[in-house]
Amino acid sequence: MERKERSSEDETDVLVFPFPVQGHINPMLQFAKRLASKGLKVTFLTTKPMQSPSTSISIQIIEFPEGEQANGTEEFAHLFKTLVSERLTNLIDRLNSSSSDPPKALVYDSFLPWALDVAKQCGLHGASFFTQSWSNSSIYYHLNQGTLKVPLEENAVVSLPSMPVLGINDLPSFVSDTGSYPSLLKMVVDRFSNFQEADWLFCNTFKELEHEVINWMASKWPIKTVGPTIPSMYLDKRIKDDNDYGLHLFKPDSELCIKWLDSKETDSVVYVSFGSLAGLTEEQMLELSLGLKRSNRYFLWVVREAEQSKLPSNFIEETSEKGLVVSWCPQLDVLAHRAVGCFMTHCGWNSTLEALSLGVPMIAMPQWTDQPTNAKFVADVWQGGIRVSKDEKGVVTKEEVEWCIREIMEGERSLEIRKNSEKWKNLAKEAVDEGGSSDKNIEEFVAKLLCN
Ligand code: UDP
Repeated sequence: MERKERSSEDETDVLVFPFPVQGHINPMLQFAKRLASKGLKVTFLTTKPMQSPSTSISIQIIEFPEGEQANGTEEFAHLFKTLVSERLTNLIDRLNSSSSDPPKALVYDSFLPWALDVAKQCGLHGASFFTQSWSNSSIYYHLNQGTLKVPLEENAVVSLPSMPVLGINDLPSFVSDTGSYPSLLKMVVDRFSNFQEADWLFCNTFKELEHEVINWMASKWPIKTVGPTIPSMYLDKRIKDDNDYGLHLFKPDSELCIKWLDSKETDSVVYVSFGSLAGLTEEQMLELSLGLKRSNRYFLWVVREAEQSKLPSNFIEETSEKGLVVSWCPQLDVLAHRAVGCFMTHCGWNSTLEALSLGVPMIAMPQWTDQPTNAKFVADVWQGGIRVSKDEKGVVTKEEVEWCIREIMEGERSLEIRKNSEKWKNLAKEAVDEGGSSDKNIEEFVAKLLCN
């Protein structure tokens, strides 16, 4: 693709603006890298200082010191909207006036629907970026449209267009338990308050993974799949220096983890992690520890520092022959390691996409937000894993943990799940590789901006 020579630092084709939490920054930064690799000049907007991962991506910081003092998510989002929207407008105005070739589009996090007004006001195209699975997002879409009424009975089911029948426990937790986090529910539903006016709706998924619900939505709205947004070196390997997200919330014990895994046989280790936010109850920690012990398998368990006091005393010492407990690990390298045989996961969307992309069978143990829906798809639709059952108190018992590990590592369905995981790994790579479904969507967007 031909492009004009750039003269000024301020010249940029597209601005990419995530909500400032890791699970949103990572996929949007990866998307920015893809755009840059196709010749666009990209500016990544952030309220947190960070280094640019590539020479073709400029970083512009929008100051937001008030966020540090915010009391909870609701206040944070309110302050973000009122203060940052004004600062964003000023920034775009400056770019518009200082450059002979001003930016053409703003790709904003779907959590920030007001950013579309800023884009339009400043004469830019607006593209909303959805960081969750499209199946999850479409549940919120139906809530916003009034086409989903959440039934109150425990055994009720929900039927939505082009989606499998969902039980109450398959719905996002903000929906199945509407009283739990009303401000977060409002935030995810509000993503659809003005989406009809956006020029593009990008989603971190790939067409083959959620084709029915995506086709249904794409027949009405300009939804474009652009994922999985995983560093290229783990997928198509076309962006040579892209082997890391570039941002780590916690410091990973990389050397220790990889050395330990190197000493284990192929497919022999259970990798356990519940992401950066979820906290288990003390009772659940105990059952999980006992289950891991009973399974008699090697395990690598990420227990964040804030969670470590919930581990049973002496657990680490008692299991040191079999297990390694770390406070954070380089998850992509761990999932790509030949020694890892399965991933016991909370089914955060990034972890789910990473496991699918690296072909690792999952034991789905969802905790909250979009995770129950992801777990439903992992087990029943993509069949790349199994889902734990909880007892009447909502706890996954040690017997259940032991059973799930045995089932996925050597049980009746183990081979079939392994085959499916391999299938998804290949499809994920194909989607972002040259001519793949996500690649084509990204190319189209780039072409549109370059000839605009
Ligand atoms: N992660 C990691 N090391 C760990 C655990 C998690 O690097 O020890 C990364 C993981 O690769 C993923 C992110 O943290 O990219 C977690 O995101 P996800 O959406 O799965 O869950 P969340 O943390 O948002 O609940």
